[in-house]
Amino acid sequence: MIESIRCPNCGSIAERHHLSYLAQIKTQCEICDYLLVMCTRSGHVLESYAPGLPTPKAKPMSVRISPLSSSHNSNSRIRDIATLSI
Ligand SMILES: [Zn+2]
Repeated sequence: MIESIRCPNCGSIAERHHLSYLAQIKTQCEICDYLLVMCTRSGHVLESYAPGLPTPKAKPMSVRISPLSSSHNSNSRIRDIATLSI
């Protein structure tokens, strides 16, 4: 079930998904990328993202670009970085 609500972050029309099989309510706004996932059983916020506002639980990005191996060949290292950036 999808419900139209006002985005608490930017005030635009956002969507609230009632995921009863997961016991979760997901609120998302395509305008500002707002995201809130809440557990309906415990009332706990599982995931939240509000652009432009400080998030209480900011998860560090797990993406990290590092050289695959200490390269004896500098050309292969440049190629690896170029592949990742596509
Ligand atoms: Zn919004």
